[in-house]
Amino acid sequence: MSEPGNLDLLSDDQFRERFRAWLAANYPAELRQDSHRPFRRLRGDAAVAWLRRVQEAGWRAPAWPREYGGMGLSFRKQLIYHEELEHAGVARIIDLGETQLGPTLIQCGSEAQKAHYLPRILSCEDVWCQGYSEPGAGSDLASLRTSAVREGDEFVVNGQKIWTTHATDSTHIFTLVRTGKFAKKQQGISFLLIDLQSPGITVRPIVNLAGEDEFCEVFFDKVRVPASQLVGEIDQGWTVAKALLGYERIWIGSPALAGKALELAHTLVRELGLSGDAGVTDRLAQLAADLHDYRLLYAEICDAVADGGKPGPEVSMLKVYASELLHRLTEFNQEVAAESGGIVGDTRIGGALTDLHWQLMMARPVTIFAGANEIQRDILAKTVLGLPAEAAAKSQIKN
Ligand SMILES: Cc1cc2nc3c(=O)[nH]c(=O)nc-3n(C[C@H](O)[C@H](O)[C@H](O)COP(=O)(O)OP(=O)(O)OC[C@H]3O[C@@H](n4cnc5c(N)ncnc54)[C@H](O)[C@@H]3O)c2cc1C
Repeated sequence: MSEPGNLDLLSDDQFRERFRAWLAANYPAELRQDSHRPFRRLRGDAAVAWLRRVQEAGWRAPAWPREYGGMGLSFRKQLIYHEELEHAGVARIIDLGETQLGPTLIQCGSEAQKAHYLPRILSCEDVWCQGYSEPGAGSDLASLRTSAVREGDEFVVNGQKIWTTHATDSTHIFTLVRTGKFAKKQQGISFLLIDLQSPGITVRPIVNLAGEDEFCEVFFDKVRVPASQLVGEIDQGWTVAKALLGYERIWIGSPALAGKALELAHTLVRELGLSGDAGVTDRLAQLAADLHDYRLLYAEICDAVADGGKPGPEVSMLKVYASELLHRLTEFNQEVAAESGGIVGDTRIGGALTDLHWQLMMARPVTIFAGANEIQRDILAKTVLGLPAEAAAKSQIKN
């Protein structure tokens, strides 16, 4: 009953109802996000098991065209899909094969690459991580130095990637590597697919401040990669990698995480008996009003895209505002919890069981990844406000 069926025949409301029913019947209750784990994520075997269930039932890859095994949903139905995941408390999964590599291959990959990799992404036979950043090449990504030198039918790769999320859970890595030197450093970069089992690769986990081993360093020592693993043209990887950035920033700007943090804020104020404290309730009201405003802005931008617009540079605003609001909310939660806010691990506050330190620490990097907020502000200053480069730099400093 709650399988997708013929999507073309479903209204948006029917689609919502059907997906909601399927999630209610199928998502394991013990894995739900709740006030204890409002930002809960799934990774490794648990993530693969859930994604396979989603795939078998026909609910996987909402944005992929149907000819490649996706659901081919309109942008509006994709929004509903994500809203329903949040509504059901489905834990977040970083599935870069589905969200980044698949769409990139569909747009820029060869027929052989599409035929081989896309079904393996959907079935989770291959799990992908993103190898872009390097020591010295984060915001200034075009300075990357990991090299790929062509030798016959292969590239020989040497260098190092860093901050590679979930590399230890992954079977493959999609990388940006330097294949040539040109006056403009964005040229001479290529997009290469690499099997993490290849001889010469070492993956070393890094534990973050929340205690999660979610990043890795990935070292390449004379790694031989078949030339057929190049996506797009040689030296044109920058264009390949940038193709999907606008849509990525829309999803990253979702108000959902801030919404969960606000729910917890209300619970904490109630459980701590602070509802009569004007200092606390003023701050809470300000946060709630800011989230309300942000939801309206998010809906406006999403509506424009759903009506056929392309995400423009103004989507940088979403990521900046949502991530900084999340900082403010998690800081508020920690502060009102007073001494309980300093506990690392689970703590009981009245009737609520929660882990405030983990939430505070997991909120910090949201302003850094997918283009640091300072970089997004720079984009906004130049391309949306039309400030000249010098004025843009000054406004950057003020912010
Ligand atoms: C949680 C998380 C997950 C990540 N996952 C991945 C991943 O899977 N794969 C991957 O490749 N990378 C990943 N990254 C890396 C991420 O892309 C980089 O951290 C990011 O691009 C910033 O680069 P950096 O850390 O080198 O900092 P830097 O670029 O050195 O920046 C340091 C500070 O200087 C500021 N700054 C830099 N340049 C300018 C400028 N021109 N104007 C004004 N301010 C500036 C920055 O905003 C920042 O505050 C991840 C990062 C995080 C935090």
